[in-house]
Amino acid sequence: MKRLIFMGPPGAGKGTQAKIICDDYKIPQISTGDILRNAVKSGTEMGLKAQKFMEAGDLVPDSVVIGIIGERLREKDCSTGFLLDGFPRTIEQADALGKLLTELGIKLDSVINLAVPDADLVKRLLDRAIKEGRADDNEETIKNRLANYNSKTLPLLDYYRKKGSLREIDGLGSMQDIAAKIKKELG
Ligand code: ADP
Repeated sequence: MKRLIFMGPPGAGKGTQAKIICDDYKIPQISTGDILRNAVKSGTEMGLKAQKFMEAGDLVPDSVVIGIIGERLREKDCSTGFLLDGFPRTIEQADALGKLLTELGIKLDSVINLAVPDADLVKRLLDRAIKEGRADDNEETIKNRLANYNSKTLPLLDYYRKKGSLREIDGLGSMQDIAAKIKKELG
């Protein structure tokens, strides 16, 4: 049974690797970015609230994403494990997750961090903008997302390092090589 967190800056390839690992371990991939994008698309109240933050490359308020994860982790398919992709991104979210896990009587296995230098990230994100046309993949927004990552999310590495659950993976290389490195770490 695997209960995992995937961390890494925007453009690190988190989503791609998360999908490979979830298929392999047969666990649900819980991406707050995907859940929020779907909410925006279907025009739900949550989507309307999140949209302006996402388009600017800002983090959606903690209360919104904490609410999403609180509901999602209680669903039945999470009883055999899960992978959190893009959550937590702030210390407040990590604290809320810790409380939730205690409430549910479960523990995390590992926190995987995919490390990629900033210069490579901007290039990858601009390439993705051309291929996928995501609304938040323009140069200005990308810079803001990276700045938010560095100021708000990066401190979480130390947070999980201190708990002894952090596994650091070099995110440069082919998709297959990186997936192999992650699987080796997870055992
Ligand atoms: P990326 O990692 O490339 O930024 P995501 O799909 O993970 O892409 O996230 C897209 C956007 O969704 C973020 O810029 C942010 O606005 C919002 N978002 C996703 N997850 C969170 C979260 N845990 N906390 C706050 N905002 C989030």
